[in-house]
Amino acid sequence: MNHHPREGFGEPGASAEEHKARLANRRLLEGMDIVTGAALALQTAEAGDMYPSHVVDVTMRAIGELIDFHAVGIVWFDPSGLEWKLGVCIPESRKALLMEEIEEQVERDFVGWAITHNKPMSVPSHVPGKRTFIHSLGTQRRITGFFVGISNESYVPDVYQKLLSILLVYCANTLESHRLYTENLERRQEEQRLHKLSLEDALTNLANRRHFDDVLAMELKRATRTKTVLSLLMIDIDRFKPYNDEYGHQKGDEALKHVAAAVGATVSRAGDLAARYGGEEFAAILPVTDVEGAAALAERVRSSVERLHIPHIRSSTGPYLTVSLGVTTAIGAAQLDPATLITSADRALYRAKRMGGNCIEAEEM
Ligand code: GH3
Ligand code: MG
Ligand code: MG
Repeated sequence: MNHHPREGFGEPGASAEEHKARLANRRLLEGMDIVTGAALALQTAEAGDMYPSHVVDVTMRAIGELIDFHAVGIVWFDPSGLEWKLGVCIPESRKALLMEEIEEQVERDFVGWAITHNKPMSVPSHVPGKRTFIHSLGTQRRITGFFVGISNESYVPDVYQKLLSILLVYCANTLESHRLYTENLERRQEEQRLHKLSLEDALTNLANRRHFDDVLAMELKRATRTKTVLSLLMIDIDRFKPYNDEYGHQKGDEALKHVAAAVGATVSRAGDLAARYGGEEFAAILPVTDVEGAAALAERVRSSVERLHIPHIRSSTGPYLTVSLGVTTAIGAAQLDPATLITSADRALYRAKRMGGNCIEAEEM
């Protein structure tokens, strides 16, 4: 009987070559399982603040399952590319050893080679009998760091080295796409912030004149198209020049803020817009609001300012700071432009002033 020297090691009758091939095949399948599992874990993770460290964590764990490493670590370059620091080391207890290894491989220029050529390297470790893997991390345009692993296995099959590469390339690409996503998100948020600021009055935080003009033009068009009514309030502080003269400009600014807050809190229905029209004048756009509704709201603004009880000894309306309001309402079908509407509200306001202030006058167009 033909006695094969390795018989008993594999399945009966299988040759040593067949056995080796089967073993290699199994290892390959196991390896692919590990890589696929890691890729899926990265794909399903939430992209929050912890995402980058999660990506590294998943990758390192998969690498540990793939190859028996004595120590692994990732080194990050700072954005200038001049400084670097060990970001992750597993296990922590081998940090000093890994640092020595990195210094050694930098000295021997293997790290530099792996990075400039963007190719994986397997070189003898400074720890006797072990091999070290070096792999750049990043994309062609931006190398962000490198991976270093001291392997316990003196021989690591080529296919495992390739799977290691796949994992690290995947890790780097995931980190880069997360970075781009975050950068883009931050830019969009900043744009939104600036856009919002450009529509606001800095002192009162109400809409500024520019925003008011835009919204009034738009709402008038909409009211004409949909044949709905639209009202406009013009609000002017009574005797504000004497207030400033008496209490000073700073107090004047404070009073403006309080009045603005009262106007803003009263004009609060969705679609309404309260604005600082200029100086000590405010305005409110009230879509789909008839003259009775607008007059009622105007009265609420008037009384809420009066109830702020801001002392004003030179007022002509009483002991406190007050406002006068002009209300105008555009009836649906009328083809009106913003200037005509504002003139009408101003006319009503002027009448309110003539009547002594702290009151409301209204007209319809
Ligand atoms: P009336 O009762 O007729 O409205 O009299 P008035 O004094 O309120 O009206 P006038 O238009 O003569 O004066 C408005 C004053 O508002 C002039 C200015 O001192 C003051 N004013 C305008 N803008 C500001 C501001 O941003 N801050 C401060 N503190 N005062 C302002
Ligand atoms: Mg005025
Ligand atoms: Mg005034």
